[in-house]
Amino acid sequence: MKVMETGEENQTRIVKDFVNRLFNSVQIHNPNEWEFQQAVKEVLDSLIPVLEKNPLYINQAVLERMIEPERMITFRVPWVDDKGNVKVNRGYRVQFSSAIGPYKGGLRFHPSVNASIIKFLGFEQIFKNSLTGQPIGGGKGGSDFDPKGKSDLEIMRFCQSFMTELSRHIGPDVDVPAGDIGVGAKEIGYMFGQYKKIKGAYEAGVLTGKGIGYGGSLGRKEATGYGTVYFVEEMLKDQGLGFKDSTVVVSGSGNVSIYAMEKAIQFGAKVVACSDSSGYIYDQNGINLDTVKQLKEVKNARISEYIKEHQDAIYQEGCSGIWTIPCDIALPCATQNELSQEAATMLVSNGVKAVGEGANMPSTQEAVNTFIAHNVLFAPAKAANAGGVAVSALEMAQNSSRLAWTLEEVDMKLQGIMKDIYSKSMKASKDYDAPGNLVVGANIAGFLKVAEAMIDQGII
Ligand code: NAP
Repeated sequence: MKVMETGEENQTRIVKDFVNRLFNSVQIHNPNEWEFQQAVKEVLDSLIPVLEKNPLYINQAVLERMIEPERMITFRVPWVDDKGNVKVNRGYRVQFSSAIGPYKGGLRFHPSVNASIIKFLGFEQIFKNSLTGQPIGGGKGGSDFDPKGKSDLEIMRFCQSFMTELSRHIGPDVDVPAGDIGVGAKEIGYMFGQYKKIKGAYEAGVLTGKGIGYGGSLGRKEATGYGTVYFVEEMLKDQGLGFKDSTVVVSGSGNVSIYAMEKAIQFGAKVVACSDSSGYIYDQNGINLDTVKQLKEVKNARISEYIKEHQDAIYQEGCSGIWTIPCDIALPCATQNELSQEAATMLVSNGVKAVGEGANMPSTQEAVNTFIAHNVLFAPAKAANAGGVAVSALEMAQNSSRLAWTLEEVDMKLQGIMKDIYSKSMKASKDYDAPGNLVVGANIAGFLKVAEAMIDQGII
């Protein structure tokens, strides 16, 4: 006997068919771009209840337009190494969405950089930037240049060449890049210097993450790591929990990891492990952050050197083993897809209570599903690590007004923004029948603001 579909079931089926067709077309039009496809799939699946409630988003092809970048720029970056050899790298800038503000997103310098990675990061940036409540669109860029083992002069020459081309495409009201993996204050400084020279004008707001002495914001360096911990603390608080007296594992030992560790320790947690791309350290006495900062921020050394100063600590080659260490809270802060389903299963069986993504898309889709299935509190990257770009937008505001705020002012604003992102994401998860699922909540809350702006601005 054929079961008759109710109107609601019919609508759900139509929307699911639409989403499947759309995702098929994304796969066909972006072949071999696995990270980009992964990021799009997660968002499309989350938006099914929104599309059911508001068919205008389908009729106006809002998603098709959001998934196709407004512009993708690739360019040659020639530079000369210290031995006089000419080298060539590839540069990228994806200008994904300007619906709610100028394109905004970091630059990544890492040998793994390709179009797929830049597009996944740029796509996620649309929703993240929307969640901050600030007027910033989505973009991202970078190069397959590897800064590891390069001299300062080589890095400077590369940055100058990169900016010589990028400067044609950016500006304080057009597109405002910042740092990401392999790009910190030093690289931003070299790029800012070159931009200024080419333009013949001091446009401070063209880049964020600048040095404090020439237009940078206090608190920007700490913002992504601190913001992640503020977000996770808010999520834990809702369940009567907190960082205090908890055991924490943090992957990576770069900008995001160091300041996530710092805030977690300030909140009373014991951080027992961190890593770099070669391996991880485990210190049962609690990681000594001064040593990590000295190794990573000053000496540019490997994390393995930590055990020379702390004899109780152990070092293990390879990164994924870090997730076998029992902890209450796991903060993946290194790179995409670093936390697999196997790692998630191990964390769950060791009793993890919460996971907060400091890095972008660090958990595979299967890992996210494992956490959610086992009721682990899960803070997705788009929401949890939005503190960095939020303080970048505060840097833009200070540059426009030619003012500099105190660290306390910036930190207060950051805390307010992270609380607001948490409540918006939680509210959207409840409004759309997935209470507590912050993956769904963050995607929906981020999407709605951009979608409404796109509809208001017509088909462009
Ligand atoms: P970073 O300062 O360059 O640090 C990256 C860290 O991750 C380094 O310790 C690196 O080790 C480690 N790493 C790289 N690949 C790894 C792997 N496969 N396994 C374990 N560790 C690995 O970069 P970051 O700015 O902290 O960025 C980290 C993540 O946060 C990225 O996903 C980035 O997109 C995201 N994020 C950053 C910001 C920001 O404001 N910086 C904002 C939002 C999101 P090595 O030194 O050995 O390479």
